[in-house]
Amino acid sequence: MIQKRLTIAALLAAVLLAIVADLLFSQKAQAVMIFITILGLCPLIFDFVVAARHKRLDLGFPIIITVIILLILASYLTAAVFVLLILSGELFREYIYKRVQDSIRDISRSLPDTAWLKREQPVEVKISEIKKGETVIVKSGGRVPVDGILQTEMTAMDESVITGESRPIEKKRGATLVAGSINLGDYLEMIASDVSTNSTIAQLHKLVDEAKSKNAPLSRFTTHYAEVTSLVALFSTIILFLVRHNLYQALALWVALVPMIFAIIVPVATTVGISLLAKRGILVKHAAALENLTKITTIVFDKTGTLTKGTPELQEIIALGEFTQPKLLQVAASTEQFSEHELARPIIEKAASEELPKENITEPHVVEGRGITAKWGGKIVAVGNRQLLIDEKIPVSSQDLATAEAREENGSTAIFVAIGGQLAGIIFLADQLRSEAKTTINNLRHLGLKTAMLTGDAKKVADKIAGEIGIDQVRAELSPQDKISIINQGKDTQEKIAMVGDGINDAPALAGANVGIAMGLEGVELALDSAGVVLVNNNLSLLPDAIVSSKKIFRVIKTDLVVASAIHFGVALLVIFNVIGILGSALFHQLSSAVVLINTMRLFSINKRS
Ligand code: ADP
Ligand code: MG
Repeated sequence: MIQKRLTIAALLAAVLLAIVADLLFSQKAQAVMIFITILGLCPLIFDFVVAARHKRLDLGFPIIITVIILLILASYLTAAVFVLLILSGELFREYIYKRVQDSIRDISRSLPDTAWLKREQPVEVKISEIKKGETVIVKSGGRVPVDGILQTEMTAMDESVITGESRPIEKKRGATLVAGSINLGDYLEMIASDVSTNSTIAQLHKLVDEAKSKNAPLSRFTTHYAEVTSLVALFSTIILFLVRHNLYQALALWVALVPMIFAIIVPVATTVGISLLAKRGILVKHAAALENLTKITTIVFDKTGTLTKGTPELQEIIALGEFTQPKLLQVAASTEQFSEHELARPIIEKAASEELPKENITEPHVVEGRGITAKWGGKIVAVGNRQLLIDEKIPVSSQDLATAEAREENGSTAIFVAIGGQLAGIIFLADQLRSEAKTTINNLRHLGLKTAMLTGDAKKVADKIAGEIGIDQVRAELSPQDKISIINQGKDTQEKIAMVGDGINDAPALAGANVGIAMGLEGVELALDSAGVVLVNNNLSLLPDAIVSSKKIFRVIKTDLVVASAIHFGVALLVIFNVIGILGSALFHQLSSAVVLINTMRLFSINKRS
């Protein structure tokens, strides 16, 4: 990047000198000037070739054509001054790219290049050489090179690079360490778990790389806009030439209307925006996700792990049949061993804390969105919700149902345990609401958005939670499949839906929404592909922020497009009425680019506002 800036600056100086020489010594220096003029086109030709390799047409192409035509027409001085103007514009744009790059350097600087591996002797290797399963050493104060699982008993990490929040986070053996975070404790060992392109660090790297390249994908909106403008430019030029038979004037119009700047506005604006959001813990994966975020009309939340903390606690065990309370817990916990569900954990932990031995459970079968069934001796065990009881044809007395409902009204989730075709008891779990849930919902409403909650949990529990945080709509007792159909049905209407989930069992719903927003990095391996946005530190309150910022970014882009179009149109009129020629046209073109880019730079203040 710096080299490119130097090259352009040198070329600019050379062209300027050649023009001065030509003016002073007239004919004698002309050959030199022509040569240097052609040389001055190099940066444009370079961009053109790079774009062509990606099978795209660089919008600098018309400029190259114009210079060639001017040279063929033997308007050498005009060609040279024209190239001079174009190079000044290029130089200014390179300066802007440097600013953009600086804004993301903080992120990339935090990613180390090498890491220490534990072999017979510790060895230092490039990060790309680390393989999954290898033991990585992170010294005190060092950075974690790849995502991994902590092997040392305990440590504290600073995850501020990824989360934007610099408080020490305690990690115990088995915890996930995120690449880029800093080890605040002593020397630690971890096992590399994700060295693939999905790892957090790889995602950040990709973000930074994309931001660096000018060939970042344009959003659909501007691509369309640039295409239309290009066609308008082409046809106007042809028509003007047919009417006036003046090639210079036609070329001047062509230069006035060519939408070169449009190829630059969006990458610059979205990159600045994405990098600033990333620093605050909002990882937006691409420009399209950012654009979709601006159009959202409804935000749909998953309940467990999204609106709630996802770490339920066991509140009460009620034995209803022939089995005692400890026996009930023992069988339920032994069955839940086979489930990955967050509701299984408190049951398993309770049994472990009471030192209950494991029962011999066979043929476990997870029923998604309902619970789990298995065999205990000759008996069928079912642990799950009402729907599971219906599936398994377990009768429930109205008295037992009333017992469950009374507690559900207070927000406890009832887990029914059936053994041998009879209801044996109910276990009650309660999950805490995230502290920021209520204000977040309120702020979203102030932004004019509708909110909804989807959950597989019982209606009473869902209503209680919805009432507490003031969410507009509730759909409960849903299977994972139901959640996807609801998202799809919503998309059939005019609604633009963002789905917020923890990515653990809602990845398909995230992928189905107009924008998928994943909470935190824990479920990220699954969720990253399906989610366009990741709230890295599990902080819901960043959601309104992300939406406001994305809108601000696109407002700037739209202003840019309107201003640039207006200038181009004005210059075109001046050309048509013969007020200015090709050089005047090129000058105004560059000036409009400068105005638009300066406007775009306002985005750098996006952080200071909130
Ligand atoms: P959510 O929509 O809250 O994320 P899920 O779709 O994962 O919920 O599960 C829906 C319901 O199915 C839970 O509220 C619970 O009643 C029941 N369930 C699912 N898995 C289990 C399990 N392993 N043990 C007990 N109940 C379960
Ligand atoms: Mg869930």
